[in-house]
Amino acid sequence: MRPRSPLRSRRWLLWGALLLLVTLLLGVLVFLAREYEEGRDQLAVERDAAAVASDIRSALIRNVQTLQSLHSVVPTPDSWMAPASEVLARHREMVRLEWRDNSTRLITFRNTPYMAEPFGAMGREAALPDMRLACEAARRQSGPAFSASYFWPLREGMGMEFMEMCLPVVRSGVPNGFLVVTYSLPGILNELGNKDVLRGHGLAFTEADGTRLAVHSAVQDNRRVLRASTLLDLPGHTLMLQLESPRVSRSGFYGLFPNLLTAVVGALSLALLAVMAMLGRDMRLRQRAELELANALAFRKAMENSLVTGLRARDLQGRITYVNPAFCQMVGFAPEELIGTGLPAPWWPPELVDEYQQRQAVRLAGQTLPREGYESVFQRKDGTRFPVLIIEAPLIDAQGVQTGFMSAIVDMTEQRRVEELNRTSQERLQATARLATVGEMASLLSHELNQPLAAISSYATGTLNLLDGPATGLPQADLQQAMRRIGEQADRAGRVIRSVADFVRRREQVREAVMPSALVDAIQPLLVLQAKKQGIRLQISVVPGCPPVLCDRTMVEQVLLNLARNGMQAMPAGCPAPESGLRLLTLRVAPLRQPPAGRSAKRWVEFGVTDHGEGLSEDVRARLFTPFFTTKAEGMGLGLSLCRTVIEQHGGALVFEAAQPRGTVFRFTLPAA
Ligand code: ADP
Repeated sequence: MRPRSPLRSRRWLLWGALLLLVTLLLGVLVFLAREYEEGRDQLAVERDAAAVASDIRSALIRNVQTLQSLHSVVPTPDSWMAPASEVLARHREMVRLEWRDNSTRLITFRNTPYMAEPFGAMGREAALPDMRLACEAARRQSGPAFSASYFWPLREGMGMEFMEMCLPVVRSGVPNGFLVVTYSLPGILNELGNKDVLRGHGLAFTEADGTRLAVHSAVQDNRRVLRASTLLDLPGHTLMLQLESPRVSRSGFYGLFPNLLTAVVGALSLALLAVMAMLGRDMRLRQRAELELANALAFRKAMENSLVTGLRARDLQGRITYVNPAFCQMVGFAPEELIGTGLPAPWWPPELVDEYQQRQAVRLAGQTLPREGYESVFQRKDGTRFPVLIIEAPLIDAQGVQTGFMSAIVDMTEQRRVEELNRTSQERLQATARLATVGEMASLLSHELNQPLAAISSYATGTLNLLDGPATGLPQADLQQAMRRIGEQADRAGRVIRSVADFVRRREQVREAVMPSALVDAIQPLLVLQAKKQGIRLQISVVPGCPPVLCDRTMVEQVLLNLARNGMQAMPAGCPAPESGLRLLTLRVAPLRQPPAGRSAKRWVEFGVTDHGEGLSEDVRARLFTPFFTTKAEGMGLGLSLCRTVIEQHGGALVFEAAQPRGTVFRFTLPAA
C-alpha cells in the first residue's frame, strides 16, 4: 500500500472533525428541542394543577356560603334537617353534616344519602379530636377551619380519607354553635375538580412524601407521566394536590422529532449531512482526477524527455513557449535562454534571418503548414550549422482556439551523412560494375574468339601447305575455298565480338527467325574441322518439319559450338576404346511435342548434343554452371555458364543427363518463331 501523504491525512482529519461536529450539533439540537418540548408540557401540567387547586378551593368556599345559608333563619333541630339533607344531596363530597353547640356537643346531624352509615363501623367518637381541633381554630379565626385529614376505615376492609371543616355559626353577634362538615377527600376530587380539565389526567391528594391519600384517577403507564404538585391552601390545613398528565406519545419518528422545530432542525441536519456526503464524494472524484492528471503529466514528461525529436512550441506572436530537452541539446541553448524569446530565433544563421523572417510571416498569415515538413538549417550556440526537418502543426487549446504552433524538429545531420556515404559507395559500385563488365567481356571474347581464330589459323596453315607444293597445278578451287573460309571466320569473329558486347551490356538482343538447319549449317565446317582433327565421328541430323526458331543467331551458334566442343573434349583419343566405335558426337535437332516443364504451351524446338565420353562426376555436376569452374588445363570455365544464360535469355532451358551406354547429353530448347 502506498503511504498516505501528510496533505491527504490532514484532509481526512478535517473531514472527520467536520462530520463529528455536525453529528454533535444535530444531537444537541434534537436534545434541546426535546427538552424545550418537555418543559413546555410540564409547564402546562403545572398550570392545570394550579387551576384544579383553585377550582377546588373556590368550590369549598362556595360550600361555606351554602352552609351559612342553612343558618340564615334560625333553625330548630327539626327544621334544620330538611335543608341539611338537601345540601348533602347536592354535595356528594360531604359525608356528614353536624350542628353542634358552642362546646361542640352534637345538636343534630345528617349523613350523606350516598353512603350507608359512614360512621357506623367505628363510631364518630374516634374522629372527634380532629373535629375539636378544627372548631378551636374556627373559633379563633371566626371563620371556617379545616382539620388534618385522617383515614377512616369503612366496612369490608375498605376505608377513606376524611377531613373535618368547622364553621362557627354566629347569631346576632353571639357565637351560636358550629356547623361541622365531614368531607371525603375522594369526594372533593370527584365533585369539585373541573371535569373538562381532568379528562385523561390523574388527580390525587398526597402527603409530602408522595403517599397518596385519595385518588380521583391515575394514568396507567407510570413512566410516561408528567407530574405537577401544588398546594391546596385551606384555612387550618394545607393539602398537597398532584396532577398527572400522560406524555404525548414519543415513540418512533415522532418520538425523535416531537415537534415541528425538532423536525425542521433534524431535516436540515440531514440535508447538511447529505450535502457533506456529496461534497466528500465530489472531493474523492476530484482527488482521483488530480491523481490521474498527475500520472498523465508524469507520463508526458517522461515521453518528452525520452524523445530524440526536438519539440518547440510558439505562440501566435512567434515567442517560444516550450522546448523539450532534445531540442535544447540540438541547438545547445538552455531552456531558460529560449523560453520567451521572439523572432529572430537564436538558432537562425545570421545570413538567413531575412529569408526565415519571410517564411515565418507567410506561415503566420496563411497558416499553410505542409504535413510532410520542410527542411531548414539551424545554427548551434557554438556557431556550427546542421540541417533539420521541421514538421509543424497548429497548437489548439482546450477551448478549440489556436494559440500557436507546435513543431517537431529532426536533426538531419546523420541522415545526410548516410546519404552522402550511399552516394559515394554507389558511384564506387558503378565504377566497379563497369570494370567487371569489361572483365566479363574480355573473358567471354577470349573464350568465344578461340574457335574462329583457331579455324582461321587452320585454314591459313592449310593454304600455306598448298602454296608450299609445286607451283604449277595449284588447286585453285581449294585455295579459294580456304580463303573464303578464312574470310567467313573473320566475319564470324567480328559478329561474335558484337554479340558478346551486346550480351555483356545486356542490351536488347536482335532476335530473328532462323531455320534450325541454317544454324547447324553455319557451324558445320568448324565442327567438321575439329572432329577431323581429333578423329571423332560427327553425326548431325535435323528432323524435317522443324519450325524456324526466334533467336540471336550468333549467340545460339556459339552455344552449339561450345556444347559440341565440350563433348569432343570429353572423348580424347584412346578413350573410349577406339574399337568400341563410340567416339561419336551426335547433334540432333527436333521439334518438341510437349512444352518443357514450366514453359508456355507454344511450339518449341529441341537441340541435343550427345557425347560418349567419361561422363560427369557428382562433384562436376554440382558446379557445372559455375563461372570459371573448369577441369581442363587450358579451360576457362565460362562455356556452360554462358550457354545457360543465353538459352534462358531466349526463354528456353538448358539441361543435361547421362547418355547411354556412356557419356553425356546436353539438351536445350528454343521457342519456335
Ligand atoms: P571449359 O570447357 O572451359 O572447361 P565449360 O563451362 O564449358 O568450361 O565446362 C566446365 C567443365 O564442365 C569442364 O571443365 C568439364 O569438366 C565439364 N564438362 C563440360 N561438358 C562436358 C561433357 N560433355 N562431358 C564431360 N564433362 C564436361
